Amino acid sequence: REVVSKNFIEQIIEKDLEEGHCKKIVTRFPPEPNGYLHIGHAKSILLNSGLADKYHGQFNLRFDDTNPTKEKVEFVESIKKDVEWIGGHFEDRVFFASDYFEQMYEAAVKLIKKGKAYVCDLSAEEIREYRGTLTEPGKNSPYRERTMEENLDLFERMKNGEFEDGSKVLRAKIDMSSSNINMRDPVIYRVSRMTHHNTGDKWCIYPMYDFAHPIEDAIEGVTHSICTLEFEDHRPLYDWVVRELEYENPPKQIEFAKLYLTNVITGKRYIKKLVEDGIVDGWDDPRLVSIAALRRRGFTPEAIRNFMELVGVSKSNSSVDYAMLEYCIREDLKLKKNRMMAVLDPIKLVITNYPEGQVEYMEVPNNQENEALGTRKVPFTRELYIDREDFKIEPPRKYFRLFPGNEVRLMHAYFVKCEDYITDDEGNVIEVHCTYDPETRSGSGFTGRKVKGTIHWVSAPTAVEAEVRLYENIVDEEKGVYNEDGSLNLNPNSLTVLNKCYVEPALKDAQKSDSFQFLRHGYFCVDSKDSTKEHLVFNRIVSQKSSYKP
Ligand code: ATP
Ligand code: MG
Ligand code: MG
Repeated sequence: REVVSKNFIEQIIEKDLEEGHCKKIVTRFPPEPNGYLHIGHAKSILLNSGLADKYHGQFNLRFDDTNPTKEKVEFVESIKKDVEWIGGHFEDRVFFASDYFEQMYEAAVKLIKKGKAYVCDLSAEEIREYRGTLTEPGKNSPYRERTMEENLDLFERMKNGEFEDGSKVLRAKIDMSSSNINMRDPVIYRVSRMTHHNTGDKWCIYPMYDFAHPIEDAIEGVTHSICTLEFEDHRPLYDWVVRELEYENPPKQIEFAKLYLTNVITGKRYIKKLVEDGIVDGWDDPRLVSIAALRRRGFTPEAIRNFMELVGVSKSNSSVDYAMLEYCIREDLKLKKNRMMAVLDPIKLVITNYPEGQVEYMEVPNNQENEALGTRKVPFTRELYIDREDFKIEPPRKYFRLFPGNEVRLMHAYFVKCEDYITDDEGNVIEVHCTYDPETRSGSGFTGRKVKGTIHWVSAPTAVEAEVRLYENIVDEEKGVYNEDGSLNLNPNSLTVLNKCYVEPALKDAQKSDSFQFLRHGYFCVDSKDSTKEHLVFNRIVSQKSSYKP
Protein backbone atom coordinates (compact mmCIF):
# COMPACT_ATOMS: atom_id res chain seq x y z
CA ARG A 1 0.00 0.00 0.00
CA GLU A 2 1.35 3.35 -0.94
CA VAL A 3 1.26 5.95 1.79
CA VAL A 4 0.10 9.11 0.09
CA SER A 5 0.06 11.57 2.94
CA LYS A 6 2.12 11.75 6.07
CA ASN A 7 0.36 11.72 9.39
CA PHE A 8 0.75 14.67 11.70
CA ILE A 9 3.36 12.97 13.86
CA GLU A 10 5.52 12.19 10.84
CA GLN A 11 5.28 15.83 9.84
CA ILE A 12 6.48 16.94 13.28
CA ILE A 13 9.35 14.46 13.22
CA GLU A 14 10.49 15.45 9.74
CA LYS A 15 10.50 19.10 10.74
CA ASP A 16 12.49 18.33 13.90
CA LEU A 17 15.04 16.35 11.90
CA GLU A 18 15.28 19.05 9.23
CA GLU A 19 15.73 21.83 11.74
CA GLY A 20 18.29 19.82 13.64
CA HIS A 21 16.36 19.52 16.92
CA CYS A 22 17.48 15.92 16.92
CA LYS A 23 19.79 13.81 14.80
CA LYS A 24 18.13 10.50 15.47
CA ILE A 25 14.66 9.97 16.83
CA VAL A 26 14.02 7.83 19.89
CA THR A 27 10.49 6.60 20.72
CA ARG A 28 9.21 4.29 23.40
CA PHE A 29 6.27 2.14 24.41
CA PRO A 30 5.73 2.59 28.16
CA PRO A 31 3.28 -0.01 29.50
CA GLU A 32 2.51 -0.35 33.16
CA PRO A 33 3.14 -4.02 33.95
CA ASN A 34 -0.32 -4.38 35.44
CA GLY A 35 -2.14 -6.52 32.89
CA TYR A 36 -2.27 -8.01 29.43
CA LEU A 37 -1.82 -5.85 26.34
CA HIS A 38 -4.79 -5.34 24.01
CA ILE A 39 -5.42 -4.19 20.47
CA GLY A 40 -5.27 -0.55 21.62
CA HIS A 41 -1.74 -1.05 22.92
CA ALA A 42 -0.85 -2.65 19.60
CA LYS A 43 -1.59 0.68 17.97
CA SER A 44 0.81 2.49 20.25
CA ILE A 45 3.52 -0.18 19.79
CA LEU A 46 3.25 -0.16 16.01
CA LEU A 47 3.13 3.61 15.85
CA ASN A 48 6.21 4.10 18.03
CA SER A 49 8.22 1.23 16.60
CA GLY A 50 7.12 2.07 13.05
CA LEU A 51 8.33 5.66 13.37
CA ALA A 52 11.70 4.51 14.71
CA ASP A 53 12.02 2.11 11.76
CA LYS A 54 10.94 4.68 9.21
CA TYR A 55 13.35 7.38 10.40
CA HIS A 56 16.21 5.01 11.28
CA GLY A 57 15.83 5.82 14.92
CA GLN A 58 15.47 3.74 18.05
CA PHE A 59 12.49 2.21 19.84
CA ASN A 60 12.57 1.40 23.56
CA LEU A 61 10.33 -0.83 25.61
CA ARG A 62 10.02 0.76 29.02
CA PHE A 63 8.08 -0.69 31.89
CA ASP A 64 6.46 2.21 33.65
CA ASP A 65 6.62 0.56 37.05
CA THR A 66 6.45 3.50 39.41
CA ASN A 67 3.20 2.45 41.08
CA PRO A 68 4.01 -0.72 43.03
CA THR A 69 0.48 -1.45 44.28
CA LYS A 70 -0.93 -2.46 40.91
CA GLU A 71 2.11 -4.03 39.30
CA LYS A 72 3.14 -7.61 39.00
CA VAL A 73 6.40 -8.90 37.69
CA GLU A 74 4.58 -11.78 35.97
CA PHE A 75 3.27 -9.37 33.34
CA VAL A 76 6.73 -8.29 32.27
CA GLU A 77 7.44 -11.45 30.30
CA SER A 78 4.03 -11.60 28.66
CA ILE A 79 4.28 -7.95 27.61
CA LYS A 80 7.72 -8.50 26.10
CA LYS A 81 6.41 -11.48 24.17
CA ASP A 82 3.40 -9.57 22.89
CA VAL A 83 5.39 -6.50 21.87
CA GLU A 84 7.85 -8.66 19.98
CA TRP A 85 5.14 -10.73 18.33
CA ILE A 86 3.27 -7.71 17.06
CA GLY A 87 6.48 -6.33 15.56
CA GLY A 88 7.84 -3.84 18.08
CA HIS A 89 11.61 -3.85 17.46
CA PHE A 90 13.02 -3.10 20.90
CA GLU A 91 15.82 -5.69 20.66
CA ASP A 92 17.80 -5.36 23.90
CA ARG A 93 16.39 -1.96 24.85
CA VAL A 94 14.18 -3.00 27.74
CA PHE A 95 14.10 -0.45 30.55
CA PHE A 96 12.41 -0.13 33.90
CA ALA A 97 11.31 3.25 35.23
CA SER A 98 12.06 1.98 38.74
CA ASP A 99 15.76 1.84 37.80
CA TYR A 100 15.62 5.64 37.72
CA PHE A 101 14.26 6.19 41.24
CA GLU A 102 17.60 7.58 42.39
CA GLN A 103 17.75 10.06 39.50
CA MET A 104 14.17 11.06 40.13
CA TYR A 105 14.98 11.75 43.75
CA GLU A 106 17.93 13.87 42.69
CA ALA A 107 15.75 15.71 40.21
CA ALA A 108 13.34 16.56 43.01
CA VAL A 109 16.22 17.84 45.14
CA LYS A 110 17.30 19.99 42.21
CA LEU A 111 13.85 21.55 42.00
CA ILE A 112 13.89 22.27 45.74
CA LYS A 113 17.28 23.94 45.41
CA LYS A 114 15.92 26.09 42.61
CA GLY A 115 13.00 27.10 44.80
CA LYS A 116 10.67 25.22 42.47
CA ALA A 117 9.36 22.59 44.87
CA TYR A 118 8.22 22.50 48.48
CA VAL A 119 7.10 20.04 51.12
CA CYS A 120 3.43 20.44 51.93
CA ASP A 121 1.64 19.15 55.04
CA LEU A 122 -1.91 19.60 53.78
CA SER A 123 -3.98 16.44 53.71
CA ALA A 124 -5.08 15.01 50.35
CA GLU A 125 -8.52 16.44 50.95
CA GLU A 126 -7.19 19.89 51.81
CA ILE A 127 -5.00 19.88 48.74
CA ARG A 128 -8.09 19.16 46.67
CA GLU A 129 -9.98 22.02 48.32
CA TYR A 130 -7.12 24.47 47.85
CA ARG A 131 -6.78 23.47 44.22
CA GLY A 132 -9.89 25.38 43.13
CA THR A 133 -12.06 24.50 40.16
CA LEU A 134 -12.24 25.16 36.45
CA THR A 135 -13.88 28.51 37.12
CA GLU A 136 -12.19 29.39 40.41
CA PRO A 137 -8.46 29.86 40.95
CA GLY A 138 -6.71 27.84 43.63
CA LYS A 139 -5.27 29.13 46.92
CA ASN A 140 -1.67 28.97 47.96
CA SER A 141 -0.80 26.33 50.54
CA PRO A 142 0.31 27.74 53.91
CA TYR A 143 3.49 25.65 53.45
CA ARG A 144 4.33 27.17 50.09
CA GLU A 145 6.90 29.63 51.42
CA ARG A 146 9.02 27.21 53.40
CA THR A 147 12.71 27.94 52.97
CA MET A 148 14.84 25.91 50.63
CA GLU A 149 16.82 24.56 53.60
CA GLU A 150 13.69 23.47 55.41
CA ASN A 151 12.35 21.80 52.26
CA LEU A 152 15.63 19.95 51.66
CA ASP A 153 15.64 18.72 55.23
CA LEU A 154 11.99 17.63 55.21
CA PHE A 155 12.27 15.90 51.85
CA GLU A 156 15.30 13.95 52.99
CA ARG A 157 13.42 12.94 56.11
CA MET A 158 10.45 11.90 53.97
CA LYS A 159 12.85 9.61 52.14
CA ASN A 160 14.28 8.31 55.42
CA GLY A 161 10.89 7.20 56.59
CA GLU A 162 10.37 9.71 59.39
CA PHE A 163 6.83 10.58 58.36
CA GLU A 164 3.60 8.65 58.15
CA ASP A 165 2.15 7.62 54.80
CA GLY A 166 0.19 10.52 53.36
CA SER A 167 1.33 13.01 55.98
CA LYS A 168 3.58 15.01 53.66
CA VAL A 169 4.02 15.45 49.92
CA LEU A 170 6.46 17.26 47.72
CA ARG A 171 4.78 19.71 45.33
CA ALA A 172 6.04 21.58 42.32
CA LYS A 173 5.82 25.33 42.90
CA ILE A 174 4.17 26.58 39.73
CA ASP A 175 1.01 28.66 39.76
CA MET A 176 -2.12 28.19 41.88
CA SER A 177 -4.08 30.51 39.61
CA SER A 178 -3.16 28.80 36.34
CA SER A 179 -6.11 28.17 34.06
CA ASN A 180 -4.73 24.62 33.76
CA ILE A 181 -5.47 22.77 36.98
CA ASN A 182 -2.55 20.41 36.36
CA MET A 183 -0.24 23.39 36.86
CA ARG A 184 -1.60 24.32 40.29
CA ASP A 185 1.33 23.09 42.33
CA PRO A 186 0.92 19.39 41.45
CA VAL A 187 2.11 16.74 43.87
CA ILE A 188 5.31 15.16 42.57
CA TYR A 189 6.28 12.83 45.45
CA ARG A 190 4.27 11.08 48.13
CA VAL A 191 5.12 9.04 51.22
CA SER A 192 3.85 5.51 50.85
CA ARG A 193 5.23 2.33 52.34
CA MET A 194 4.90 -0.14 49.51
CA THR A 195 7.16 -2.99 48.55
CA HIS A 196 8.26 -2.61 44.97
CA HIS A 197 8.87 -5.67 42.80
CA ASN A 198 12.22 -4.26 41.66
CA THR A 199 13.49 -2.05 44.50
CA GLY A 200 11.89 -3.90 47.42
CA ASP A 201 11.60 -1.71 50.51
CA LYS A 202 14.40 0.65 49.56
CA TRP A 203 11.97 3.52 48.99
CA CYS A 204 9.07 4.77 51.03
CA ILE A 205 8.53 7.77 48.77
CA TYR A 206 7.35 7.36 45.20
CA PRO A 207 7.19 9.88 42.34
CA MET A 208 3.89 10.76 40.66
CA TYR A 209 3.35 9.89 37.01
CA ASP A 210 3.47 13.47 35.67
CA PHE A 211 6.85 14.04 37.29
CA ALA A 212 8.33 10.61 36.62
CA HIS A 213 7.37 10.20 32.97
CA PRO A 214 9.24 13.18 31.48
CA ILE A 215 12.30 12.23 33.52
CA GLU A 216 12.17 8.65 32.23
CA ASP A 217 11.94 9.99 28.69
CA ALA A 218 14.79 12.43 29.20
CA ILE A 219 17.09 9.82 30.77
CA GLU A 220 16.58 7.49 27.81
CA GLY A 221 17.06 10.28 25.29
CA VAL A 222 13.54 9.88 23.98
CA THR A 223 12.95 12.62 21.43
CA HIS A 224 9.24 12.14 20.76
CA SER A 225 7.13 10.95 23.66
CA ILE A 226 3.92 9.82 22.07
CA CYS A 227 0.90 9.37 24.29
CA THR A 228 -2.86 9.43 24.07
CA LEU A 229 -5.13 12.48 23.99
CA GLU A 230 -6.12 12.50 27.65
CA PHE A 231 -2.60 13.72 28.43
CA GLU A 232 -2.93 16.86 26.30
CA ASP A 233 -3.74 18.94 29.40
CA HIS A 234 -0.68 17.52 31.12
CA ARG A 235 1.72 18.68 28.42
CA PRO A 236 2.45 22.08 30.04
CA LEU A 237 3.53 20.20 33.16
CA TYR A 238 5.63 17.79 31.10
CA ASP A 239 7.34 20.78 29.48
CA TRP A 240 7.77 22.49 32.84
CA VAL A 241 9.50 19.43 34.31
CA VAL A 242 12.00 19.01 31.47
CA ARG A 243 12.65 22.76 31.35
CA GLU A 244 13.21 23.21 35.09
CA LEU A 245 15.46 20.16 35.20
CA GLU A 246 17.46 21.74 32.38
CA TYR A 247 17.81 18.69 30.20
CA GLU A 248 19.94 19.44 27.20
CA ASN A 249 17.79 17.80 24.57
CA PRO A 250 14.37 17.80 26.17
CA PRO A 251 11.86 15.27 24.89
CA LYS A 252 8.64 16.48 23.31
CA GLN A 253 5.21 15.07 24.14
CA ILE A 254 2.82 14.44 21.23
CA GLU A 255 -0.73 13.19 21.69
CA PHE A 256 -2.82 11.05 19.35
CA ALA A 257 -6.30 9.53 19.57
CA LYS A 258 -6.72 6.13 21.19
CA LEU A 259 -7.93 3.26 19.08
CA TYR A 260 -11.46 2.27 19.98
CA LEU A 261 -13.12 -0.75 18.43
CA THR A 262 -16.91 -0.78 18.35
CA ASN A 263 -18.59 -3.36 20.57
CA VAL A 264 -15.39 -4.68 22.03
CA ILE A 265 -14.32 -5.05 25.67
CA THR A 266 -10.86 -3.82 26.62
CA GLY A 267 -11.35 -2.74 30.23
CA LYS A 268 -9.26 -4.81 32.63
CA ARG A 269 -11.89 -5.03 35.35
CA TYR A 270 -14.53 -6.31 32.92
CA ILE A 271 -12.24 -8.95 31.49
CA LYS A 272 -11.12 -9.94 34.97
CA LYS A 273 -14.74 -10.54 35.88
CA LEU A 274 -15.40 -12.59 32.75
CA VAL A 275 -12.40 -14.74 33.62
CA GLU A 276 -13.44 -15.11 37.26
CA ASP A 277 -17.02 -15.95 36.34
CA GLY A 278 -15.76 -18.62 33.96
CA ILE A 279 -17.46 -16.99 30.99
CA VAL A 280 -14.19 -16.88 29.10
CA ASP A 281 -11.27 -19.28 29.17
CA GLY A 282 -8.61 -16.88 30.48
CA TRP A 283 -7.19 -13.60 29.19
CA ASP A 284 -6.36 -15.28 25.91
CA ASP A 285 -9.87 -16.53 25.18
CA PRO A 286 -10.21 -16.14 21.40
CA ARG A 287 -13.29 -13.94 21.82
CA LEU A 288 -11.28 -11.22 23.54
CA VAL A 289 -9.05 -8.60 21.93
CA SER A 290 -5.97 -8.90 24.09
CA ILE A 291 -2.92 -9.47 21.93
CA ALA A 292 -2.65 -12.98 23.40
CA ALA A 293 -6.28 -13.65 22.47
CA LEU A 294 -5.88 -12.35 18.92
CA ARG A 295 -2.80 -14.55 18.51
CA ARG A 296 -4.67 -17.59 19.81
CA ARG A 297 -7.62 -16.80 17.57
CA GLY A 298 -5.26 -16.91 14.58
CA PHE A 299 -4.75 -13.26 13.77
CA THR A 300 -1.34 -12.45 12.30
CA PRO A 301 0.92 -9.50 13.11
CA GLU A 302 0.80 -8.58 9.42
CA ALA A 303 -2.99 -8.34 9.47
CA ILE A 304 -2.93 -6.22 12.61
CA ARG A 305 -0.28 -3.96 11.11
CA ASN A 306 -2.32 -3.48 7.94
CA PHE A 307 -5.34 -2.75 10.05
CA MET A 308 -3.46 -0.02 11.93
CA GLU A 309 -2.39 1.51 8.63
CA LEU A 310 -5.96 1.56 7.40
CA VAL A 311 -7.12 3.17 10.63
CA GLY A 312 -4.38 5.80 10.52
CA VAL A 313 -3.22 8.18 13.22
CA SER A 314 -5.39 11.09 14.22
CA LYS A 315 -6.08 13.77 16.77
CA SER A 316 -9.77 13.02 17.23
CA ASN A 317 -11.38 10.06 18.93
CA SER A 318 -13.50 7.71 16.87
CA SER A 319 -14.45 4.08 16.90
CA VAL A 320 -13.51 1.51 14.30
CA ASP A 321 -15.64 -1.46 13.29
CA TYR A 322 -14.32 -4.93 14.18
CA ALA A 323 -15.31 -5.99 10.65
CA MET A 324 -12.38 -3.95 9.38
CA LEU A 325 -9.99 -6.07 11.42
CA GLU A 326 -11.68 -9.15 9.98
CA TYR A 327 -11.25 -7.80 6.49
CA CYS A 328 -7.52 -7.41 7.16
CA ILE A 329 -7.04 -10.98 8.37
CA ARG A 330 -8.95 -12.40 5.39
CA GLU A 331 -6.80 -10.38 3.02
CA ASP A 332 -3.64 -11.53 4.76
CA LEU A 333 -4.49 -15.24 4.72
CA LYS A 334 -6.21 -15.44 1.34
CA LEU A 335 -3.16 -16.23 -0.75
CA LYS A 336 -0.94 -17.63 1.98
CA LYS A 337 -2.96 -20.53 3.31
CA ASN A 338 -3.96 -23.89 1.93
CA ARG A 339 -7.62 -24.32 1.13
CA MET A 340 -8.86 -27.52 2.67
CA MET A 341 -12.14 -29.38 2.84
CA ALA A 342 -13.75 -29.70 6.25
CA VAL A 343 -17.25 -30.84 7.14
CA LEU A 344 -18.51 -29.19 10.28
CA ASP A 345 -21.95 -30.76 10.60
CA PRO A 346 -21.58 -34.10 8.86
CA ILE A 347 -24.09 -36.34 7.12
CA LYS A 348 -22.99 -39.35 5.13
CA LEU A 349 -23.17 -39.41 1.38
CA VAL A 350 -23.02 -42.84 -0.29
CA ILE A 351 -22.26 -43.13 -4.00
CA THR A 352 -24.17 -46.29 -4.78
CA ASN A 353 -22.56 -46.96 -8.18
CA TYR A 354 -18.98 -46.37 -6.99
CA PRO A 355 -16.99 -49.56 -6.37
CA GLU A 356 -16.74 -50.54 -2.73
CA GLY A 357 -13.18 -50.42 -1.37
CA GLN A 358 -11.88 -48.32 -4.25
CA VAL A 359 -9.78 -45.22 -3.49
CA GLU A 360 -8.94 -42.55 -6.05
CA TYR A 361 -6.53 -39.76 -5.27
CA MET A 362 -7.64 -36.40 -6.58
CA GLU A 363 -4.84 -33.96 -7.33
CA VAL A 364 -6.00 -30.74 -5.78
CA PRO A 365 -4.38 -27.28 -5.84
CA ASN A 366 -3.61 -26.08 -2.33
CA ASN A 367 -4.67 -22.59 -3.26
CA GLN A 368 -6.40 -21.89 -6.56
CA GLU A 369 -5.17 -18.32 -6.50
CA ASN A 370 -1.57 -19.10 -5.61
CA GLU A 371 0.07 -21.88 -7.60
CA ALA A 372 3.24 -21.58 -5.55
CA LEU A 373 1.54 -23.45 -2.72
CA GLY A 374 1.51 -26.60 -4.86
CA THR A 375 -0.95 -29.45 -4.87
CA ARG A 376 -1.99 -32.32 -2.64
CA LYS A 377 -3.70 -35.67 -3.13
CA VAL A 378 -7.12 -36.04 -1.59
CA PRO A 379 -8.64 -39.53 -1.29
CA PHE A 380 -12.07 -40.08 -2.84
CA THR A 381 -14.20 -43.07 -1.85
CA ARG A 382 -17.68 -44.53 -2.04
CA GLU A 383 -18.64 -43.09 1.33
CA LEU A 384 -18.10 -39.42 2.04
CA TYR A 385 -19.22 -36.81 4.51
CA ILE A 386 -20.89 -33.63 3.39
CA ASP A 387 -22.23 -30.70 5.40
CA ARG A 388 -25.84 -31.02 6.51
CA GLU A 389 -26.74 -27.63 5.07
CA ASP A 390 -25.72 -28.84 1.61
CA PHE A 391 -28.70 -31.21 1.42
CA LYS A 392 -32.39 -30.35 1.63
CA ILE A 393 -35.33 -32.68 1.25
CA GLU A 394 -37.36 -29.73 0.04
CA PRO A 395 -35.11 -27.09 -1.45
CA PRO A 396 -35.95 -23.44 -0.92
CA ARG A 397 -35.94 -21.15 -3.96
CA LYS A 398 -32.55 -20.70 -5.60
CA TYR A 399 -31.07 -23.62 -3.68
CA PHE A 400 -28.59 -25.24 -6.06
CA ARG A 401 -27.06 -27.79 -3.76
CA LEU A 402 -28.21 -31.37 -3.22
CA PHE A 403 -31.85 -32.37 -3.11
CA PRO A 404 -33.67 -35.41 -4.45
CA GLY A 405 -33.25 -35.55 -8.22
CA ASN A 406 -30.65 -32.75 -8.38
CA GLU A 407 -27.09 -33.05 -9.61
CA VAL A 408 -24.12 -31.11 -8.19
CA ARG A 409 -20.35 -31.15 -8.47
CA LEU A 410 -18.35 -32.61 -5.63
CA MET A 411 -15.51 -30.14 -5.52
CA HIS A 412 -12.33 -31.45 -7.25
CA ALA A 413 -14.17 -34.74 -8.07
CA TYR A 414 -17.32 -35.87 -9.88
CA PHE A 415 -20.89 -34.86 -10.57
CA VAL A 416 -23.25 -36.73 -8.27
CA LYS A 417 -27.02 -36.95 -8.50
CA CYS A 418 -29.19 -37.45 -5.46
CA GLU A 419 -31.31 -40.57 -5.83
CA ASP A 420 -32.53 -41.15 -2.27
CA TYR A 421 -32.02 -40.38 1.39
CA ILE A 422 -32.50 -42.06 4.79
CA THR A 423 -33.90 -40.42 7.92
CA ASP A 424 -33.90 -41.49 11.56
CA ASP A 425 -37.04 -41.84 13.69
CA GLU A 426 -37.23 -38.10 14.23
CA GLY A 427 -36.99 -37.31 10.56
CA ASN A 428 -33.37 -36.15 10.59
CA VAL A 429 -31.48 -37.01 7.46
CA ILE A 430 -28.68 -39.45 8.24
CA GLU A 431 -27.63 -40.57 4.77
CA VAL A 432 -27.88 -39.26 1.26
CA HIS A 433 -27.63 -41.70 -1.63
CA CYS A 434 -26.26 -40.58 -4.97
CA THR A 435 -24.95 -41.94 -8.22
CA TYR A 436 -21.90 -40.48 -9.89
CA ASP A 437 -21.02 -40.03 -13.53
CA PRO A 438 -17.44 -41.26 -14.19
CA GLU A 439 -17.22 -38.96 -17.24
CA THR A 440 -17.36 -35.84 -15.14
CA ARG A 441 -14.16 -36.09 -13.18
CA SER A 442 -12.61 -32.67 -12.48
CA GLY A 443 -9.92 -31.79 -14.96
CA SER A 444 -11.19 -34.27 -17.55
CA GLY A 445 -12.54 -31.48 -19.74
CA PHE A 446 -16.09 -32.79 -19.55
CA THR A 447 -18.53 -30.32 -21.13
CA GLY A 448 -21.55 -32.53 -21.70
CA ARG A 449 -23.77 -30.70 -19.22
CA LYS A 450 -23.53 -28.18 -16.44
CA VAL A 451 -24.50 -28.08 -12.77
CA LYS A 452 -25.23 -25.02 -10.70
CA GLY A 453 -23.93 -26.14 -7.33
CA THR A 454 -20.53 -27.26 -6.07
CA ILE A 455 -20.17 -28.72 -2.59
CA HIS A 456 -17.20 -29.86 -0.54
CA TRP A 457 -16.78 -33.30 1.05
CA VAL A 458 -14.41 -35.48 3.02
CA SER A 459 -13.77 -39.18 2.36
CA ALA A 460 -15.33 -41.12 5.24
CA PRO A 461 -12.80 -43.95 5.84
CA THR A 462 -9.82 -41.57 6.09
CA ALA A 463 -11.54 -38.54 7.60
CA VAL A 464 -9.92 -37.06 10.70
CA GLU A 465 -12.25 -36.17 13.52
CA ALA A 466 -11.85 -32.69 14.96
CA GLU A 467 -13.44 -30.20 17.30
CA VAL A 468 -14.26 -26.85 15.75
CA ARG A 469 -15.05 -23.70 17.71
CA LEU A 470 -17.07 -20.96 16.09
CA TYR A 471 -17.21 -17.50 17.59
CA GLU A 472 -19.50 -14.53 17.59
CA ASN A 473 -18.92 -11.27 19.38
CA ILE A 474 -18.98 -11.82 23.12
CA VAL A 475 -21.21 -8.79 23.55
CA ASP A 476 -24.70 -8.39 22.18
CA GLU A 477 -24.17 -5.93 19.33
CA GLU A 478 -27.83 -4.98 19.15
CA LYS A 479 -27.85 -3.77 22.72
CA GLY A 480 -24.32 -2.35 22.87
CA VAL A 481 -21.52 -3.27 25.25
CA TYR A 482 -22.87 -1.95 28.56
CA ASN A 483 -26.18 -1.91 30.36
CA GLU A 484 -27.26 1.23 32.18
CA ASP A 485 -25.95 -0.19 35.45
CA GLY A 486 -22.53 -0.67 33.87
CA SER A 487 -22.79 -4.45 33.52
CA LEU A 488 -22.00 -6.15 30.22
CA ASN A 489 -24.58 -7.23 27.63
CA LEU A 490 -23.26 -10.66 26.87
CA ASN A 491 -24.16 -12.61 23.76
CA PRO A 492 -25.18 -16.11 24.93
CA ASN A 493 -24.14 -17.55 21.54
CA SER A 494 -20.62 -16.20 21.42
CA LEU A 495 -19.13 -19.70 21.41
CA THR A 496 -20.37 -22.72 19.47
CA VAL A 497 -18.44 -25.95 19.95
CA LEU A 498 -18.84 -28.53 17.19
CA ASN A 499 -17.57 -31.79 18.59
CA LYS A 500 -17.66 -34.15 15.68
CA CYS A 501 -16.39 -32.48 12.56
CA TYR A 502 -14.49 -34.26 9.82
CA VAL A 503 -11.47 -32.82 8.10
CA GLU A 504 -9.25 -34.10 5.31
CA PRO A 505 -6.50 -36.57 6.29
CA ALA A 506 -3.91 -33.98 5.22
CA LEU A 507 -4.83 -32.04 8.37
CA LYS A 508 -3.93 -34.92 10.65
CA ASP A 509 -0.50 -33.52 11.43
CA ALA A 510 -1.52 -29.89 11.74
CA GLN A 511 0.52 -28.17 14.44
CA LYS A 512 -0.61 -25.71 17.08
CA SER A 513 -1.27 -22.27 15.57
CA ASP A 514 -1.20 -23.53 11.94
CA SER A 515 -3.95 -21.93 9.94
CA PHE A 516 -5.98 -22.86 6.88
CA GLN A 517 -8.92 -21.89 4.83
CA PHE A 518 -11.73 -24.40 5.16
CA LEU A 519 -13.46 -24.01 1.83
CA ARG A 520 -16.78 -22.19 2.14
CA HIS A 521 -16.45 -21.95 5.96
CA GLY A 522 -13.73 -19.36 6.43
CA TYR A 523 -10.30 -19.34 8.05
CA PHE A 524 -9.35 -21.57 10.96
CA CYS A 525 -6.31 -22.14 13.13
CA VAL A 526 -5.26 -24.95 15.40
CA ASP A 527 -5.88 -23.89 19.00
CA SER A 528 -2.57 -23.33 20.73
CA LYS A 529 -3.90 -24.30 24.14
CA ASP A 530 -6.30 -27.21 23.78
CA SER A 531 -5.41 -28.98 20.55
CA THR A 532 -3.47 -32.25 20.74
CA LYS A 533 -2.39 -34.82 18.19
CA GLU A 534 -5.21 -37.12 19.33
CA HIS A 535 -7.83 -34.40 19.59
CA LEU A 536 -7.49 -31.60 17.06
CA VAL A 537 -9.18 -28.32 17.94
CA PHE A 538 -9.67 -25.59 15.36
CA ASN A 539 -10.72 -22.00 16.07
CA ARG A 540 -12.57 -20.08 13.42
CA ILE A 541 -10.53 -16.94 12.88
CA VAL A 542 -13.08 -15.36 10.60
CA SER A 543 -15.89 -16.51 8.36
CA GLN A 544 -15.59 -16.50 4.60
CA LYS A 545 -17.85 -13.60 3.86
CA SER A 546 -17.41 -10.01 4.80
CA SER A 547 -19.78 -7.26 5.73
CA TYR A 548 -16.95 -4.76 5.43
CA LYS A 549 -16.22 -2.99 2.16
CA PRO A 550 -12.92 -1.15 2.00
P1 ATP B 1 -5.54 0.01 29.77
O1 ATP B 1 -6.11 0.59 31.04
O2 ATP B 1 -6.54 -0.23 28.71
O3 ATP B 1 -4.60 -1.13 30.01
P2 ATP B 1 -3.52 1.98 29.95
O4 ATP B 1 -3.49 3.34 29.37
O5 ATP B 1 -3.65 1.84 31.43
O6 ATP B 1 -4.63 1.15 29.15
P3 ATP B 1 -0.73 1.60 29.81
O7 ATP B 1 -0.04 0.39 30.25
O8 ATP B 1 -0.63 2.83 30.64
O9 ATP B 1 -2.25 1.18 29.60
O10 ATP B 1 -0.44 1.97 28.32
C1 ATP B 1 0.78 1.86 27.65
C2 ATP B 1 0.70 2.70 26.41
O11 ATP B 1 -0.35 2.26 25.56
C3 ATP B 1 0.40 4.15 26.73
O12 ATP B 1 1.32 4.96 26.02
C4 ATP B 1 -1.00 4.36 26.25
O13 ATP B 1 -1.18 5.66 25.80
C5 ATP B 1 -1.12 3.35 25.13
N1 ATP B 1 -2.51 2.94 24.93
C6 ATP B 1 -3.33 2.36 25.84
N2 ATP B 1 -4.56 2.14 25.31
C7 ATP B 1 -4.52 2.58 24.02
C8 ATP B 1 -5.46 2.64 22.94
N3 ATP B 1 -6.71 2.21 23.09
N4 ATP B 1 -5.05 3.14 21.76
C9 ATP B 1 -3.80 3.56 21.60
N5 ATP B 1 -2.85 3.55 22.57
C10 ATP B 1 -3.20 3.07 23.77
MG1 MG C 1 -2.31 -0.90 31.02
MG1 MG D 1 -2.25 3.54 32.38
